[in-house]
Amino acid sequence: MHAFAFIRPADAAAAVAGAAQGNTAQQGAEVRFVAGGTTLLDLMKLNVETPARLIDINRLPLDKIEAMPDGGLKIGATVRNADLAHHPTVERDYAVLSQALLAGASAQLRNMATTAGNLLQRTRCMYFRDTAMPCNKREPGTGCPAITGSNRMLAILGTSAHCIATNPSDMCVAMAALEATIHVQGPKDARAIPIGDFHLLPGNTPQRETVLEPGDLITHVTLPPPITGSKQAYLKLRDRASYEFALASAAVVITIAGQNVTRARIALGGVGTKPWRSPEAEAALVGQPANGANFRKAADAALRNAKPQSQNAFKIELARRCLTHSLQMAITG
Ligand SMILES: Cc1cc2nc3c(=O)[nH]c(=O)nc-3n(C[C@H](O)[C@H](O)[C@H](O)COP(=O)(O)OP(=O)(O)OC[C@H]3O[C@@H](n4cnc5c(N)ncnc54)[C@H](O)[C@@H]3O)c2cc1C
Ligand code: SF4
Repeated sequence: MHAFAFIRPADAAAAVAGAAQGNTAQQGAEVRFVAGGTTLLDLMKLNVETPARLIDINRLPLDKIEAMPDGGLKIGATVRNADLAHHPTVERDYAVLSQALLAGASAQLRNMATTAGNLLQRTRCMYFRDTAMPCNKREPGTGCPAITGSNRMLAILGTSAHCIATNPSDMCVAMAALEATIHVQGPKDARAIPIGDFHLLPGNTPQRETVLEPGDLITHVTLPPPITGSKQAYLKLRDRASYEFALASAAVVITIAGQNVTRARIALGGVGTKPWRSPEAEAALVGQPANGANFRKAADAALRNAKPQSQNAFKIELARRCLTHSLQMAITG
């Protein structure tokens, strides 16, 4: 591994000022924050990430989970995934988030991994992680071998001719269904970014994965007040029962009055180039009786624009069944 400097800032302002010296976008910059290290240090060992300086943010006071005056929840950037999953308010009011977090990685990793780090974890595309191979995301303009190569795990929604990599996060899928907001402190100002606007589609610039700018520090994430009486579920389908990334997953938050669905928030994982909120599925459900036939119609709507590659057409039906079943799980509790 190459040499790098390790810095422990005294406060958030010092951390942001230090990171703002990086002259490129957040990912691939020379100066990087490190939280749990479970993504960044992995990629440094592979020489995929080669920062010159690491700023350790673990001593910043960003590790609290707090109720907000409006009834929502404030989650600090360095709150560990395990602590968030087992927090009583999250288990009670945001069960889809607890379930998604517990479906991710392993107990050891969840004890280290943080909220902000999870938001910024990078794709598991094998070519991205192998510096002997070309990859537009790692080295813009070199090509995308996945399109003609190994793409079984990769995306069917939101792809481009330049990159078809899947966003691998479970947590982000639940946060998309919960309509989380990401709060950032930058060198000039503080910003609040709805999660739907936070991750970018690959388009012509797959190396740029989020709207973060140089120096931006994620300070916390907020969740809106829980929806009274909402039914929630997260279902993850994968090649083995644990310690594996999703082939397809679904996060659902629905409200039912009488027989009918009155509100639906639906997001998919394992199939999109970003955590994939599906307004199409939501529109197909609202106003309809909550039954299997309508759940299937919503799933059809969610996958209507799917574009499979040579090895992953199976994901279309898998994702449809995943969403249909997660809706059944939500209503049967
Ligand atoms: C073997 C393995 C299996 C896994 N399985 C799953 C899985 O099934 N599901 C799943 O969802 N995830 C899985 N993960 C990924 C894991 O969830 C992430 O690695 C973890 O959430 C990253 O958090 P971290 O705190 O360790 O991030 P770090 O590695 O510390 O940082 C990751 C990125 O975020 C940046 N960063 C960190 N904090 C901030 C901040 N406050 N502001 C701005 N930038 C910041 C860093 O600079 C870096 O770019 C797995 C990981 C491994 C190694
Ligand atoms: S899918 Fe994206 S990450 Fe994978 S090889 Fe192609 S450009 Fe790289």
